[in-house]
Amino acid sequence: NLSQKLDKAFKTLKGQGRITEINVATTAKEIRKALIDADVNYKVAKSVTDDIKEIALGREVLISVSPGQLLVKITHEELTKLMGGEKQEISLKGDPSVILIAGLQGSGKTTFSGKLAAYIKKQNRNVLLVACDVYRPAAIDQLKVLGEQVGVEVYTEPDNKKPVEISKNAIEYAKKNNKKVVIIDTAGRLAIDEQMMNEIAEVKKAIQPSETLFVVDSMTGQDAVNTAKAFNDRINFDGVVLTKLDGDTRGGAAISIRAVVEKPIKFISTGEKMDALDVFYPERMASRILGMGDVVSLVERAQQVFDEEETKKLNQKLRKNQFNFEDFLNQIQQIKKMGSIKDLVGMIPGMGKMMKDLPIDDDAFKPIEAIIFSMTKEERENPDLLSGNRRNRIAKGSGTSIQQVNNLLKQFEDMRKMMKSMNKMQGKGIPPNMKN
Ligand code: GDP
Ligand code: MG
Repeated sequence: NLSQKLDKAFKTLKGQGRITEINVATTAKEIRKALIDADVNYKVAKSVTDDIKEIALGREVLISVSPGQLLVKITHEELTKLMGGEKQEISLKGDPSVILIAGLQGSGKTTFSGKLAAYIKKQNRNVLLVACDVYRPAAIDQLKVLGEQVGVEVYTEPDNKKPVEISKNAIEYAKKNNKKVVIIDTAGRLAIDEQMMNEIAEVKKAIQPSETLFVVDSMTGQDAVNTAKAFNDRINFDGVVLTKLDGDTRGGAAISIRAVVEKPIKFISTGEKMDALDVFYPERMASRILGMGDVVSLVERAQQVFDEEETKKLNQKLRKNQFNFEDFLNQIQQIKKMGSIKDLVGMIPGMGKMMKDLPIDDDAFKPIEAIIFSMTKEERENPDLLSGNRRNRIAKGSGTSIQQVNNLLKQFEDMRKMMKSMNKMQGKGIPPNMKN
């Protein structure tokens, strides 16, 4: 997979303290190959890696981060930028606001229409679904079933009506019945087809939707880009919905589509169930494409949190396996300084597991901190002292249960073990400037 490939690509850089022109060129080439494998369009992949080379050469490598990791981070930033940087909302202008759904047959339009209805309904808006796929009676039934599932009314009309007519009538119906958002599900074809394009263009012209969304199957790779271009040339849509991202597709299409049609991706669809809908976050997609979220985050953490001195100290401790609760508390405090805990969970070795059972909000660290605060300095520095009696005392003192204390200790032990084995793995790979 991509992550392994990048690993290989970064081998060249391992153990080297500085990014040089030679090793960047090699690595950039590998990154480009990896991106292309993830369905990123060749031209786009090339321009990304050219940028990365440029940026990387100008950057100092942090002591705690390998050049390879830094390159991943730069790549991540570039991919995020390429996908628009920020998330983009759909426009709900108008009364009612009208959302038109377009795309090829089987791309997931009807499924997405149901999901979007549920999503908007959750914001306490009265939604109406409209079945305009008049060619397949089964499609109308499908929408009816989904509408029922999510508790949203579905507007249909008997035979022989044209989509333009149905949508106009549906909007009239919405006005009379206090519906605030109208979602129009349309018919697709298996491939790009003049008649389909004409029909959807006609509907768009007749109803002037506040938002036209183009739905595309992310598993179709390069075809997804061509389809997006054809639809955009014809109907000038406002946003893209990427579906079927629950499969093992890497999502490189997100980058290519954005680059080719210059329209934002607004939602991603990750399953057949009605709640499998997510707002599109460029940053998360970049992590997905790189398949290296952990590495990226680690680099980020290193850049934001640690100063050199501290990193040195921590590394010494890690190497001597002297990491204790005092250090742990210190880390938590630093992490909290960085803001949103939600995004940080899972980045630190062992931390993801530790947080698994806790509610992930900004209070998530509270019980852990309470427990550590209830330890004496001696106990923090030497966790092996923590006998049953002491654990009992700590549970009482911190207002937690003995299980919680035990869990924390167990997880802390796991984390130490993991760090120990990571040390072994790194072995002599620690750059000279990190040795004391
Ligand atoms: P339409 O022809 O564009 O309306 O596509 P449908 O909504 O009928 O979807 C086609 C097929 O893809 C159906 O079997 C859906 O259940 C399935 N599908 C749609 N979206 C997703 C998704 O995000 N993930 C997965 N795994 N399947 C999906
Ligand atoms: Mg359909």
